[in-house]
Amino acid sequence: MTNKYMYFIANWKMYGGLKSLNSLHKVIKFLKDFKKSKYTKVIYCPPSTLIRPMSKKLKKSQIFVGAQNCHQNNDYGAFTGNINSKMLKDVGANFVIIGHSENRFSGDTNNLINKKIKSALKSGLKVIFCIGESLKEKRKKFTKKVLSKQINLGLDKVKNKDKIIIAYEPVWSIGTGIIPKSDELFSTIEFIKKKSQKSKVLYGGSVNPKNISLLKSIRNIDGFLVGGASTDPKKFIDIIKKTYN
Ligand code: PEP
Repeated sequence: MTNKYMYFIANWKMYGGLKSLNSLHKVIKFLKDFKKSKYTKVIYCPPSTLIRPMSKKLKKSQIFVGAQNCHQNNDYGAFTGNINSKMLKDVGANFVIIGHSENRFSGDTNNLINKKIKSALKSGLKVIFCIGESLKEKRKKFTKKVLSKQINLGLDKVKNKDKIIIAYEPVWSIGTGIIPKSDELFSTIEFIKKKSQKSKVLYGGSVNPKNISLLKSIRNIDGFLVGGASTDPKKFIDIIKKTYN
């Protein structure tokens, strides 16, 4: 591992209630005592219902809170069941995940994602922009083509690109226990950095305490977006620890 600053983003997806917040003190304590904590950027993205209580709980810690999606409209409006970026900021979020494949499945197109990114930045949120190819696209060797399109359309006319972190999340790796081959992952991350002109790119997809030693050896990865394993504080702490070992 050669990167000085590493991101660890916990995506709780649609898991967790108020009781789950009790698990956070283990992570807060760990980071307090951790030698590398100065270089460790941790962001928790819980379901929207937990953003407010979580941000209160983490107020004195170094952990940031993010949301998992937002509506594209920056103003209030008649959009039943939706939440915009301004509202997320209002309850304590500083980041928002946009373009997650689970939301792309339910209708988020590249154009819509572009609108959401612009809206989030306007509200003062930083964006964790997810991109990644499906298994079918990978098998057809379309990975670079798909990623290029997601980057070009998603970031079209976006100013403040420095407020965006890209997370490369191959769809076939999310929740499957399968991770890309190291050389392939290295070259895909390199491709994304060149294409997006972003110096920080994270990896996400089945990151766990068992495979982190292999993943951290890929020199150009700037951190990890962790889904399933992030809901267990022991596993999440283990992932952070092992990244620096
Ligand atoms: C994710 O939700 O972005 C993710 C990577 O999930 P998992 O770690 O469970 O594969």
